[in-house]
Amino acid sequence: MSNAAGQSSSLFPTYARYPISLVKGKGSWLWDDQGNQYLDFMSGIAVTNLGHAPEKVTAKVKAQLDELWHVSNLFQIPNQEKAAMLLTANSGADAVFFCNSGAEANEAAIKLARRYHQKIKGSGRFEIITFVQSFHGRTLATLTATGQDKVKEGFLPLPAGFKSVPLHDLDALKAAITDKTAAIMLELVLAEGGVLPVEADFVHAVKALCEQHGLLLIIDEVQTGMGRTGKLFAHEHYGIQPDIFTLAKGIASGFPTGAMLGKAFLRDAFSAGSHGSTFGGTPIATAAIIATIETMLEDQLPQRAADMGAYLKEQLTEKLSGNPHVKAIRGLGLLIGIECAEPVNELILEAQKRGLLFISAGPNVIRLLPNLYVTKEEIDQAVSIIAAVIHDYTAVKKD
Ligand SMILES: *Cc1c(COP(=O)(O)O)cnc(C)c1O
Repeated sequence: MSNAAGQSSSLFPTYARYPISLVKGKGSWLWDDQGNQYLDFMSGIAVTNLGHAPEKVTAKVKAQLDELWHVSNLFQIPNQEKAAMLLTANSGADAVFFCNSGAEANEAAIKLARRYHQKIKGSGRFEIITFVQSFHGRTLATLTATGQDKVKEGFLPLPAGFKSVPLHDLDALKAAITDKTAAIMLELVLAEGGVLPVEADFVHAVKALCEQHGLLLIIDEVQTGMGRTGKLFAHEHYGIQPDIFTLAKGIASGFPTGAMLGKAFLRDAFSAGSHGSTFGGTPIATAAIIATIETMLEDQLPQRAADMGAYLKEQLTEKLSGNPHVKAIRGLGLLIGIECAEPVNELILEAQKRGLLFISAGPNVIRLLPNLYVTKEEIDQAVSIIAAVIHDYTAVKKD
């Protein structure tokens, strides 16, 4: 393993890194250390939803850096109260716990669900049902919750209390529910799993099953939240209220932060000392959250994501329909997948050479995640590069 300078790297080889060192970003654009410019259609994997270096967030974080960085959650943190108020005022949730990542937000959700059943209901229920192809994080509990075997290899033994059933298989889900089941945990678009939007009928059936059996519904909005899908939170598309939902990626424009949100009836399942995080909700992290949400609401970015997402899908359909390599174009808002007949890794590398960055979701799916300010001109540019690399690839294959 060598780094960009050709020296052997001192990092654990946990990532297959592209040979590009990005040094500057503004809006939809990134620059590398060779002066090459890239149109960014991945947003740090759904993180920089406001684009790179968004002015209002940058200003607010800079001002906070001059005032106070960290005090500990043993004190009142006004920014944390305000960030929580903004999140609850704009969702059906009533209480927030701040942490530092998506995995930790899901870990908090799992702990809250267990603790609610064990301390409040006295039922001893602990099991969480998740779905095949889901992704919930890399801690031991969240990788066990994740419905993909590749993240579990070599990490045995896994914690007890998790089951995955196939998505859209209501009979399998019903059969999995026992008197040990505490919660069902679900992404509304399985993002890492291939950009698979969950059917509305299935979501409503899951919600009904939760009500019928006294289970908590946990929605993992780590990737779908914060305007990405054309609503502030993806569950708004389905007209359902989760008992718990989790956020991270887009919540603070790139400052590492996560949040677990719950209904009022869950509040007392946690008490002082039952859960915590040294860095959760620091004055700086919560300044970044406040500025991100305020900007998102002021500029009506969820609606913009819906409009631009529709335009992107329409352009992709127009330019790619009939291509034998393209099997499906799907997604919600600005979380779009192009399912191809073959692995897409070469397409990613070829697009990088032509100045466009995107990622995959599983081996055969191109995943597009532009920032929510993306313009029609930028979409046109990206679509023409995507169409060109797919056409060239298909042409090579035929030869
Ligand atoms: C990225 C992601 C996570 C994990 O978030 P980290 O911040 O990497 O821990 C969990 N769930 C979903 C749906 C994600 O997309």
